[in-house]
Amino acid sequence: MGKVIFQKTGEDIEDHIISLRSLLDRLKIPFQKGDSVAVKLHWGERGNTSYLHPRYAREIVKWLQKHGTKPFIFDTTVLYSGGRRTGKDSLKTAAEHGFTKNYLGCPVVIGDGMEGRDVVDIEAQFEHFETVQVTKLVEKVDGFFIFSHFKGHMATGFGGAVKNISMGFASRAQKQRMHSDARPVLNKKECDKCGICVDSCPTGAATISDDEYPEYDLEKCIGCAQCIALCPQIALRILWDTDATIFQEKLVETAAAVWRLIEDRTILVNALLKITADCDCLPGHNPQIAPDSGFVGGYHPVALDRESLKRIGEEPFDRTHPGVPWKRQFEYAEEIGFFKGD
Ligand code: SF4
Ligand code: SF4
Repeated sequence: MGKVIFQKTGEDIEDHIISLRSLLDRLKIPFQKGDSVAVKLHWGERGNTSYLHPRYAREIVKWLQKHGTKPFIFDTTVLYSGGRRTGKDSLKTAAEHGFTKNYLGCPVVIGDGMEGRDVVDIEAQFEHFETVQVTKLVEKVDGFFIFSHFKGHMATGFGGAVKNISMGFASRAQKQRMHSDARPVLNKKECDKCGICVDSCPTGAATISDDEYPEYDLEKCIGCAQCIALCPQIALRILWDTDATIFQEKLVETAAAVWRLIEDRTILVNALLKITADCDCLPGHNPQIAPDSGFVGGYHPVALDRESLKRIGEEPFDRTHPGVPWKRQFEYAEEIGFFKGD
């Protein structure tokens, strides 16, 4: 299960597509003819420019169809305001970014339903979660193809396959349960009182009065981190209510619970391209922190993320997100039996 395949790539998208095809042809396909296969990916927040072009997804869809399966692509709705909070908004954002049925040759679906209610509680039995709530697709489809854009992330250091299965499959409530320990803390020296954090706060926890600095009501705050992500001055950082490692553990527990249900019918590919400082949830400019490298394919999300970090190196992520205890993800995955190391 820990076997991984690396496929190096060149500089432009034509090279990338050739490399992706080579990688796909080296993977063992766990699906039968006629199987429905859900392709999990991230089509980028409205205004984001670092998401992966839909051409990669189209190539994966073609490959799955060549093997006689019936693929569709999906993502789930998110906690914060923007272009993906509702199913309707998210499909509109997907279409604006080129992820359409016409272009991809397959349906584009909201995994947790247009109202965010197509979700199911599944068993976890871990330290933080007895159960986790995720897309109902885990019960409905024959197989999964997890396509993850590997890049930095402000709360997890990096984001790859584990995060795509965890946050990416989670219902909005489960996303909130994972995020619930993060709170914004303001550096007044950097803040220009623009009010963007207030406009983007989904609960009204962030407020601002004339000529004053913004304030955050921690009773109303759900820890979604939207304000921190959107502050153009980088004046906000995460203040963890508990140790920051707990967020890593919650992330891993959610992924592990999903993985128990899908491991025998799933293949994964990480794209080591456009490796940016932060995730595709952020609108605006997102600087690249490492050069394009290639694709990693395989059969276990932890193995893929570990190999991806090995290929890129740890330095770009530690430099952009100092102090984030991302290594805990790997330790904890072994502690709870999600992944057996070498
Ligand atoms: S978004 Fe940032 S700069 Fe703008 S008011 Fe909020 S904290 Fe200050
Ligand atoms: S104040 Fe809290 S609820 Fe509001 S955007 Fe920031 S983290 Fe989210």
